[in-house]
Parts: sequence; structure tokens; C-alpha cells
Amino acid sequence: MSERVLVGAGVGNGVAIANAFIYKADRYVPWDSDAAGSSRGLLAIRAALAEVANEIDLARENTDSESADILDALKLVLEDRSLMESIKMRLADGANSQRAVSGAFKAAAGALAQLGEYFAERSTDIMELGERVLDKLVGKEDSSWPTDAFVLVTDNLGPLEMVKLQKSSIVGLVTSLGSPTSHTSILARGMNLPTVVSANGTEFIKVGDVLIVDSSSGQVLVGPDESEFEQYSKALSTNSPETHGSVSELELPVKLYANLGSSSEGAAAIAFGAEGVGLFRTELLFLGEKVVPSLETQVLEYSRLLDQFPNQVVIVRVLDLDTDKPLPFLKLSQTGKYANRGFQALLANPEALITQLTALSLAQQKYPDAQLWVMAPMVSTADQAKEFVSMAKKLGLQTVGVMIEVPEVCEPQVLAEIVGVVDFLSIGTNDLTQYTLNQDRLHSPLAVSAVREPKVIELIQRVTKVCVQAGKPIGICGEAASDIESAKLFIEYGVTSLSASPALIPGLVKELSSL
Ligand code: PEP
Ligand code: MG
Repeated sequence: MSERVLVGAGVGNGVAIANAFIYKADRYVPWDSDAAGSSRGLLAIRAALAEVANEIDLARENTDSESADILDALKLVLEDRSLMESIKMRLADGANSQRAVSGAFKAAAGALAQLGEYFAERSTDIMELGERVLDKLVGKEDSSWPTDAFVLVTDNLGPLEMVKLQKSSIVGLVTSLGSPTSHTSILARGMNLPTVVSANGTEFIKVGDVLIVDSSSGQVLVGPDESEFEQYSKALSTNSPETHGSVSELELPVKLYANLGSSSEGAAAIAFGAEGVGLFRTELLFLGEKVVPSLETQVLEYSRLLDQFPNQVVIVRVLDLDTDKPLPFLKLSQTGKYANRGFQALLANPEALITQLTALSLAQQKYPDAQLWVMAPMVSTADQAKEFVSMAKKLGLQTVGVMIEVPEVCEPQVLAEIVGVVDFLSIGTNDLTQYTLNQDRLHSPLAVSAVREPKVIELIQRVTKVCVQAGKPIGICGEAASDIESAKLFIEYGVTSLSASPALIPGLVKELSSL
């Protein structure tokens, strides 16, 4: 397995593999000793504004209509009379040209940000526009990009920098900020650039690290192992999901579901042939937040997801807290094995769990056609499984299951009790492998094939057998689901579904249809 997997929201199509190039945009910081403004300053400012406008015109020639609209809107800002008035006013007050430009753009962006969430995002475009004008004003050279293929890793990128990248050898983009609806995301889609925005943990990426940007599942694999590299290299040739039909008609021995991290990835998953969602990781909603996301925010995201999968199974996993993704609003006071992870961490924070389950239940009511299944991660005792099922059912959820991710719940007695109360099980092979082999996934990465070590595979076989006997669905949703050798074994044991990154589904279909 890769050294680290970062989660974010996937945008655009398919997969990119290349070395990381880390980019930090400079920001103008005014200094006190700036000389006072002058009429020469105003001339220079007009020239800088015209230069940026000219660049926008040139960039506009090579873009699709949605991207062109974004650029047109930016040009209107540059030509806005009130912006020039604001600059002149600042010059008259004694600001030098840089301060005047910076202040005027900041004021314009601030006014927009006050109008609400949608406009707040647009206001960052205006800030970038201002930075661009400032660059021209001081004669700063354009950024120079690597000549070899690269994945750009940055906090955020404005539309102007995005269009400049069109001429570079960029193959993928990872940002720590931004949303799937931001202008950056729209432009990335227009450029057909596999992108993950709002990725958590970009600070762990070093220049030159090999990255796999999987926009179809919203994941970034840092330092992939050989088998991941191979699987994803094959997936590169399937980067246009339009070419894949639904796999439902192929009569495969299992259902093929998608692993998703954001509703923005739904369309690509369907295009890659997914028959439903086998693992919707909900961490992205929570990461980077200061408080538990509101009921409304959560209902909106789950509704967006369900809306895209009428009459299909959508398995949503409640928040899986991990030690490398602490959240300031959750209490982490427990001690003991697995205490501050997954379901146990949620049990210590019941309000967060109840809000999430309520939001899921409300979304299901809005979209009754989708078959919403809900599961808890890292359950470590039969009592926990019972508690989760009872809570979720009380809140109106109909199909409730748990993940098998630790060896303790594979003990025959515990397993029998769990299977007795749940509607389905899903095996998280990533965690089950590391905990069974006593390895730490973060510090000593395991190969995906480690799932076939006798100690681990025997547990998987046992869990599957018990589920099959009880007539309950049993899925595999860890990375091993897309490892063909392992997938064949899982099918032989009797699993009912495999859930993988959408971009890897066509490869699985190819291998499995010949079984
Ligand atoms: C797993 O452990 O296999 C799994 C799917 O969960 P995650 O990778 O999100 O921990
Ligand atoms: Mg897990």
C-alpha cells in the first residue's frame, strides 16, 4: 500500500501519475517604507491592468465556453469603473501604487465575500486578479513550471494561473483548499485534468514524491507500491469514462461498486460503469471544520449523492476518525485499542453521530428510490455492532451494517453475534490487513498483496462464509478489491460485491468477465 492516502473531492476524469511539484503562490504584503503614490503610479497601474486584460483575452481563445465565461467575468472586474475610482482614491490618500492596487482589489473581494458562501469563493478569484496586476506592476516574471510531466500540489490556484498551466506539462492537480464547484475546479474539468481539491494532508507531500491522483475516488496516493502503480497505470488508458457502459448487463459474479469521497465523483463513477456505491467515505465533510457540519450541510451532500444513484445501492460509512486526521470538535479522551478511531470515537461524541445519522435518514426520505445502506467503521465488539444498528434503526435507517476491519470481530463467537444483528457486512481490507499483521499502515506501508497472507485471508474467508450461510450481503471495500489476484479469491469465497475506485472498475470488468 502507498505511504499515505490523502482524501479530498475528485474533480474531472480519471487518473494522473507523476512526480509532485509543490507551488506556493506569493502574496503581496505592503511595507511601511513604500514611496507615496504619484500620477506616474496611475499610468503604471493602467498599463498593468491592460496587460492582465490582454493575457485573459489570449487565454480565452483556447478554452471551452464555461471557462471562457469565468475569464470574461474577471475581465469585467478589471474594466469596472468603481475599481479604478477605488485605486485613484487610495493614491490620492497617499498610498503608493502597490498599496493602492492591493487595497482596491481587497475591498472589492471583501464586498463580494460578505454576500455569502457562493460569492466568498468568487472573491478569492478577485484577490488572485489583484495579485496578477501587482506582479505586472513590479515586473515579476511568470512562474516557471517543470518541463517533465508533473502533478501540481498547492493550497489553491486562481483561474488565471490555471489557464497559464494549459501550456505546461501538468498532468494532475492537488489542492488543499477549494471546492468541487470553484472556478479552479471548473477550469480543471475543462482542461480534462485529473484533480483532487480540498485534499487533507498535502503538507506531507514532498517535492518529487510519486503521486497517483485518482479523481474518480477523490484520493491521492503518495508513494504507491508496485501493484498500485501497475493497476493505476492500466487505468490511465481508461481516462475517458464516456467509453464505458454499465456493467450490469455483463452478468459478472459480483456487483462492482464505487468507492467515493465526495458527491462530486458520482457522475464519473457511473460513467466508469459502477453499479452503485460500496463505500462513501464521509470524512471530507468534517475535515478542516471547526464544528460538526450542520444537519443541513450534511443532508445536502447525502442528497446530492443519492440523487445520482436511483434504484442502486449506496453504502455510506459514518465518520471514520483516524489519528492522523484529528478534528478539534471531537473529544478524544479514551484509552485502549482502537479507542480513538472509527465507531468508538463516535461513541464518545454521540451528538456528531446522531446528527450524521439523522442527516442520512432525511436524505433517504428525500430520495426514496436510492437504496441507502449505512455502516460503521472499525467496530471492535459485538456490543458496538448492536449499539450502532439500534441507533441507526431508531433514527429511521433501514439497512444497517458494520465494517470488519479488526481481527477481534472475526472471532467465531463475536462474528456470529454480529452477523445476527446486521443487514450486511463490508470488509475493510486496508485496516484488517494492518491490524492482523500488527503493522502500522502509516509508518510501514504494506503491499496490497499482504491481504493474501494466510493470517489475513483466512479471516476474510471465515467472515464471508458466515455471511453467505446467513444469506447476508458481504462486500470488500479496501484496496485489495481491485487487486485482481485477491479479487478472484474473494469471489471464490462468495463475496457479493467488490468496491473500488471508479477508475479501476473497467480493469476489473475486463479481468472478471473472462472468469
Ligand atoms: C479499509 O480499511 O479497508 C477501508 C476501506 O477504510 P479506510 O481505507 O478508509 O480506512
Ligand atoms: Mg478502514
